[in-house]
Amino acid sequence: MNENTPTAGAAPETAPRNMHFIREMIAEDIRAGRNGGKVVTRFPPEPNGYLHIGHAKAFCLDFGMALENGGVCHLRMDDTNPVREDIEYTEAIQKDIRWLGFDWGPHFYHASDYFGKMYDLACQLIRDGKAYVCSLTAEQWKEHRGIPTEPGKPSPWRDTSPEENLALFERMRAGEFADGEKVLRAKIDMASPNLHMRDPVIYRILHATHPHTGDAWCIYPMYDFAHPIEDALEGVTHSLCTLEFEVHRPLYDWVIRNCHLFPSRQTEFARLSLTYTVMSKRKLLELVQTKLVNGWDDPRMPTLCGLRRRGVPPEAIRAFCETIGITKYDSLTDVAVLEHCIRDALNKTARRAMAVLDPLKVVIENPADVPATVRGPVNPEDPAAGEREIPFGPELWIEREDFAEVPPPKYFRLSPGKAVRLRYAGFLECTGVDKAPDGTVAAVRGRFIPMTEKVKVKATIHWVPASARPVEVRLYDRLFDVPEPDADKDVDFKTHLNPDSLKTATALVEPSLLEAAPGDAYQFERIGYFAADPDSKPGAPVFNRTVTLKDSWKGAVGA
Ligand code: ATP
Ligand code: MG
Repeated sequence: MNENTPTAGAAPETAPRNMHFIREMIAEDIRAGRNGGKVVTRFPPEPNGYLHIGHAKAFCLDFGMALENGGVCHLRMDDTNPVREDIEYTEAIQKDIRWLGFDWGPHFYHASDYFGKMYDLACQLIRDGKAYVCSLTAEQWKEHRGIPTEPGKPSPWRDTSPEENLALFERMRAGEFADGEKVLRAKIDMASPNLHMRDPVIYRILHATHPHTGDAWCIYPMYDFAHPIEDALEGVTHSLCTLEFEVHRPLYDWVIRNCHLFPSRQTEFARLSLTYTVMSKRKLLELVQTKLVNGWDDPRMPTLCGLRRRGVPPEAIRAFCETIGITKYDSLTDVAVLEHCIRDALNKTARRAMAVLDPLKVVIENPADVPATVRGPVNPEDPAAGEREIPFGPELWIEREDFAEVPPPKYFRLSPGKAVRLRYAGFLECTGVDKAPDGTVAAVRGRFIPMTEKVKVKATIHWVPASARPVEVRLYDRLFDVPEPDADKDVDFKTHLNPDSLKTATALVEPSLLEAAPGDAYQFERIGYFAADPDSKPGAPVFNRTVTLKDSWKGAVGA
């Protein structure tokens, strides 16, 4: 595979493409023949946490723009900071991106691959009189930098000679100074209204062992210096990042120009914020470390591994990222949009099944009229999936809330003297109830009427046969109970955790569901979408609720 081969693993289209400013910009660049019409993008995660759905927005764009334009997208671990990398994260990041259907081919890189080249470029800047070693303390440096409306004060070392600076920088590299004692600064403009241009630090001393380069270095490049170099060395044409980097762009361009590099160009877009969740890695890590969730892949987490465990199909996430579009304005996306995309995808692919969460026994009084089995579609949205056979019989279980001994007004489900349709089977007319000693309804008695008789009813209810088996179901809900849990900086976001975000229950399910393999998705009719948990034991699946059937926040059966 050469660099012109489109990146492998082309994710299938899942949503109509919306025009947005980045699509337009790239189309225009291709029309103008910029970079010979080539498109090279990159996704540069810092391997210090698991990827979340916000990252998915970024890499669906990075990989998507490359794929659409016959280009390539690189995966680059942004490991310029030596103290915060973990191999666990690096592997998880790759797994999550592959799961979403994208592949970087041979283009897997580490920012640390370029430390040697970055050092050489820093030396060249010094020789050109464009960088100098500065010994101001962090405190003094802040004070010298000043405020946007007034020029800063030049460092006393600003006009030292290239020879002196080169010698000092070499000594920095040789480990002669302590952390923070000296830094290398780019000589740009101490009067710039953009503080990032006021002689920014481009190298710092850090006596730390790097996961890839070990102890080869005790000086490390700063992000603003490293990132444009990484992009340029890889021939990245379109470096797409989130809005907070907009003010860093003049520095990005300065590095490209003054180091005489490939003209990579940075373009910023708004990050994803979702209601009822938090997206900062630090906060997600805090939830994991304080055991308020069961790890990074807890199905309530906005992480990609959490969504996967919850049963969310990758095409739903791709469709979501396409649906929300790309803009220049920060906004808050309603999690209902994501839930809609999940339902939309699962509706097409999930097998149908019946499950009863709160069982009430039904005894049919005319067993001779009752079939032993009935048939229903595996998925009405997918006729090719065929039919399933469901055991039936004179004893069944229905949902307790589908029966009312004294029906409230407008109650159309089962009550004494009334009939309902039993999904796929026929009709059930309630003839009476058996009471438990405490006066509650222990069983409903009824008469079965075959489908062929055309009884007029106002409701269809689901049921499971007497041979139904109990399984554990985990009814997940939103992790927080306010739309913006981290909006108020003075309140700990953890105080907004939804105490009902996980309820465990036992459901009775069609016997065939005991064969469910980890990850298998089902629509439990009238209840919601569920997926078998990856840790389920053979023959004893545990079902995670992926999403309720409609947007019924706290309103669905079992919600
Ligand atoms: P932190 O949560 O610590 O601020 P980060 O999310 O920026 O870190 P990175 O690993 O640096 O973590 O992110 C990799 C890329 O993903 C960056 O280019 C960043 O712009 C993008 N990204 C991160 N969060 C979001 C988000 N919520 N929406 C869109 N893109 C995001
Ligand atoms: Mg970041």
